[in-house]
Amino acid sequence: MHRPYNFSAGPAALPTEVLQQAAAEMLDWHGTGLGVMEMSHRSSAFGEILDHAQSTLRRLLAVPDDVHILFVQGGGLGENAAVPLNLSRGGAVDVVVSGAWSAKSAQEAARYADVAIAASSKNSGYCAMPDPASWRIRPDAAYVHVCSNETIHGVELADWPDLAALGSAAPLVVDCSSHILSRPMDWSRIGLAFAGAQKNIGPAGLTLVFVKDSLLGRALPICPQVWNYTELAAQQSMVNTPPTYAIYMAGLVFDWIERQGGVPAMQAAAQERAALLYDYLDASDFYENRVAPGSRSLMNVPFFLKDESRNADFLAQAQSRGLLQLKGHKSVGGMRASIYNAMPLAGVQALVDFLRDFERGQ
Ligand code: PMP
Repeated sequence: MHRPYNFSAGPAALPTEVLQQAAAEMLDWHGTGLGVMEMSHRSSAFGEILDHAQSTLRRLLAVPDDVHILFVQGGGLGENAAVPLNLSRGGAVDVVVSGAWSAKSAQEAARYADVAIAASSKNSGYCAMPDPASWRIRPDAAYVHVCSNETIHGVELADWPDLAALGSAAPLVVDCSSHILSRPMDWSRIGLAFAGAQKNIGPAGLTLVFVKDSLLGRALPICPQVWNYTELAAQQSMVNTPPTYAIYMAGLVFDWIERQGGVPAMQAAAQERAALLYDYLDASDFYENRVAPGSRSLMNVPFFLKDESRNADFLAQAQSRGLLQLKGHKSVGGMRASIYNAMPLAGVQALVDFLRDFERGQ
């Protein structure tokens, strides 16, 4: 089945076969006579769905036993509050500001903790990820926050930094919302990771939190119960009604990733897609990407027409070729192609073909 190629940054395209499976199971999940949206979250059928999603995800990302996987609500912005509420004890929190999302994280954490900026690329227009060797981490930092893929600016942290080797005992907290499951996670370097589902996982409304057991038990008394990691871990993410349908959809996406060959296959495909697009943009005098080559995101590719007066025409023609949602974020302008796990190489090839045709049509 051919659908238009959807380059949205999120909520984003889902694999067609996942949507077809969800459609086929909409009215009756596995002979229960119930659709997943209609089931009690306490039923054994939903318990099976939750366990399956969680165990598949644990396998896909090789999540060790001492890391809890929590399914919560509130999105990435919710976690910007939940993380300091759970981990900071009201003390020092160091944040690496590498784009709009980590800037928001610093702002929100400052409501609950003593925030300092460990490094910032703001003055250079967020065109490169600050080198971990340059991060200024305070000795008493409760944690260091980094957004490992800045969705708006198209900047990605190439490797998980080893804070211990940089002389810090603080746990690393990563917002990996927009590239989770596109590359392996090094759990020896990560204390907590969170990700909104609406890019590489499934529908909006579900947020994943991975938290080391040793970081539990530190929540401030004002931490809302539904965001208290210790309670969420103790109650298998069922402190209240979880986003049941989104969890079901995430489970289908995890199965799909496993069928494709797991995270190594996702990573190889991401590298191939990104190389195709960046190589074309770099060779062109008509378009440009402004991110430093070592910091370029494999998932979000912002680019500009050198003649910006052609933007509206570009978007209209792209749409008529079945290339959807290419408009850049309003704070950056230009275009952005988000090429997540569900984007086939053929979609990026279709985009590159269009870029060439549009350029030639001038
Ligand atoms: N962090 C990153 C990296 C994001 O891309 C986004 C959303 N695009 C957020 C946080 C905020 O997520 P939400 O809208 O789910 O709160």
